[in-house]
Amino acid sequence: MIAEKTYLIPTSVDEALKMAKANLGSFKYLAGGTDVMVNRFQGNEESPCLIDITKINTLKGISKDGKFLRIGSLEILEELKYKKEIAEEFPMLIEAALAVGAPLLRKTATLGGNILCENRCLFYNQSEWWREAIGFCLKCEGDICIATKGKKACFSELVSDTAPALIALDAEIEIVDVNGIKQIPIETIYTGDGVHPRNLSETAILTAILLPLNRGFKTDFHKLRERESLEFTSLTSAIAIDKNGKLKIALSGVDPKAVVVEGTVNDDKALLIKKAIKGARAIDNDMYSRKYRREMIRVFLNRSFKKLNL
Ligand SMILES: Cc1cc2nc3c(=O)[nH]c(=O)nc-3n(C[C@H](O)[C@H](O)[C@H](O)COP(=O)(O)OP(=O)(O)OC[C@H]3O[C@@H](n4cnc5c(N)ncnc54)[C@H](O)[C@@H]3O)c2cc1C
Ligand code: SF4
Repeated sequence: MIAEKTYLIPTSVDEALKMAKANLGSFKYLAGGTDVMVNRFQGNEESPCLIDITKINTLKGISKDGKFLRIGSLEILEELKYKKEIAEEFPMLIEAALAVGAPLLRKTATLGGNILCENRCLFYNQSEWWREAIGFCLKCEGDICIATKGKKACFSELVSDTAPALIALDAEIEIVDVNGIKQIPIETIYTGDGVHPRNLSETAILTAILLPLNRGFKTDFHKLRERESLEFTSLTSAIAIDKNGKLKIALSGVDPKAVVVEGTVNDDKALLIKKAIKGARAIDNDMYSRKYRREMIRVFLNRSFKKLNL
């Protein structure tokens, strides 16, 4: 792990943006640090400047904001279960947050950090000497994908457990950067390119997550992992149907971006499953095989359809 040369602690978004602008190309924002610090230990993150955003109070708190429930990006995953406003309308978000890692980790990890955590791959999330021994891959300045032997694309996977739940619930996110503020559907930030998995500008700060109120969601959530106690996902599946019959499926763990399938409750279920499996460009870079994870999409979605009486 490299020692940072500069550790900055802004107390406002404006101050953070000024610090980011002054350190372009050499900084990383730090929230709970549970993803960033592990990546630094493994030599996959080497920014000499860390901007610790945890003292920015405007990034905390939960409130009603017009048609949305606004959740500050620094809200702690383990704490979400105590929030009545979330439990009432969006219990799937709590289920997803509690599926992340283990209790100790969740007491530090933030919702914003979970949405933006780095993509993973069995051949990338290893120590530097391990990676050097087998040869560096496309995601760490090598010229070949160790998993596929291809030279063009990296399929490191989106592993956020809360992202599929939020996407299925039609969540939007508020982003502030040096160019201003914008509110966008959460799924639009994921590029599908494993080397550069998100399309946010370098200075972008995720300020809040916005969940649409009064949609009467019915939901179901599943996570495939080797150990229930502590494990990244090999497939996370979330589905939400609203009171008007709109249906949205979102998956993580099987593609560099979230796989999203939208429809209505009247759609052919076999076709929805087919679309989800087709969208999942999983490769053999996980403890479970590509074939097994893709087949588990069918299993999880069938379970969800049954639970939701579809
Ligand atoms: C042992 C272990 C197990 C884990 N298991 C899981 C798991 O099961 N599921 C899962 O989803 N994740 C898992 N993680 C990954 C990680 O802990 C979580 O994703 C966590 O939610 C990240 O949140 P954080 O606040 O610690 O993020 P950080 O590490 O602080 O940041 C993560 C990324 O987001 C950026 N960032 C954070 N907040 C903001 C913001 N507001 N604006 C702009 N950029 C921001 C950072 O610059 C960084 O790129 C695990 C990690 C470990 C070490
Ligand atoms: S998918 Fe290939 S290029 Fe991407 S991190 Fe894994 S081994 Fe590297």
